[in-house]
Amino acid sequence: TVKENGRNDCMLYTGELDNSSLEKLTMQHEMRQALNRNEFVLYYQPQYHIATGKVVGLEALVRWRHPERGMIPPTQFIPIAEESGLIVQLGEWVLAEACRQNKAWQDAGLPAVPVSVNLSMRQFLQQNLPDKVASILHQSGLRSEYLDLEITESMTMDVQHATTCLVELTKLGVCISIDDFGTGYSSFHYLKNFPINRLKIDRSFVRDIQQDPNDAAIVAAIIAMAHNLNLQVIAEGVETEGQVEFLRKHACDEMQGYLWSPPVPGGQVADILRPLAYPG
Ligand code: C2E
Ligand code: MG
Ligand code: MG
Ligand code: MG
Repeated sequence: TVKENGRNDCMLYTGELDNSSLEKLTMQHEMRQALNRNEFVLYYQPQYHIATGKVVGLEALVRWRHPERGMIPPTQFIPIAEESGLIVQLGEWVLAEACRQNKAWQDAGLPAVPVSVNLSMRQFLQQNLPDKVASILHQSGLRSEYLDLEITESMTMDVQHATTCLVELTKLGVCISIDDFGTGYSSFHYLKNFPINRLKIDRSFVRDIQQDPNDAAIVAAIIAMAHNLNLQVIAEGVETEGQVEFLRKHACDEMQGYLWSPPVPGGQVADILRPLAYPG
């Protein structure tokens, strides 16, 4: 029988592959519905100024509140949305929702801070992205300086497109951050010329900052380089006081991580903004 013949196991694998593409199709279909049914929600993680402890920003991070499967993290659906192209629609929803909520917090009298929104590759490659951002800002009434767009190094590979797009976005007055910095292929030559405002040091370098001298050297070098290029620099994934000490010693500007707060639902943001500083 097929079962006894190990060589024929490939039949089973073919079956499994079909299952997983079926699963993807189902997921795509469900995501389309989820957009219409408003099942996506934004969580926000505060970013702190290290020297003063003040909240200087909020990163918007999308979650899918699935009616049966509960809260699904972005790592489980963003790649599928990216592959299917649905990310463009989802990304626009994220942008609009983040701008709307940030304006609402400002209108409620809370301290004004920029909201950071992650862009996907497909969104960034759209020719009309700057127009879309402009119209979303206009509709929400949020001033452009209160929107920060996070892109990754891989999005700057098409240098011509990236330059045009970033120049247009910067003209609008929004801020640009490079996310997960150090994990991609950044050419320092272009980094020097791109109109960007901030580098976000990837958390894989921050994690072992105290134990691994190579990580320590890399983080120290990124901070020094950012400052020499007149860029702000923020450390991602800060979880310990020891990491904070290192970052403070090397004059890193900002930090973000579980040490003070995980991403929280929008309803909890007022409690974070009101004191405007991390506890202690
Ligand atoms: P990211 O943009 O680098 O976001 C930071 C991720 O690190 C978030 O995971 C956050 O919850 C997590 N994090 C923050 N502090 C810590 C920490 O101290 N320790 C650890 N271990 N993790 C920490 P999350 O929310 O699961 O998002 C994962 C990724 O999904 C994001 O990475 C981003 O690339 C993507 N993503 C999230 N929301 C969106 C979105 O609206 N659009 C797009 N295109 N991508 C998104
Ligand atoms: Mg990010
Ligand atoms: Mg990222
Ligand atoms: Mg990141």
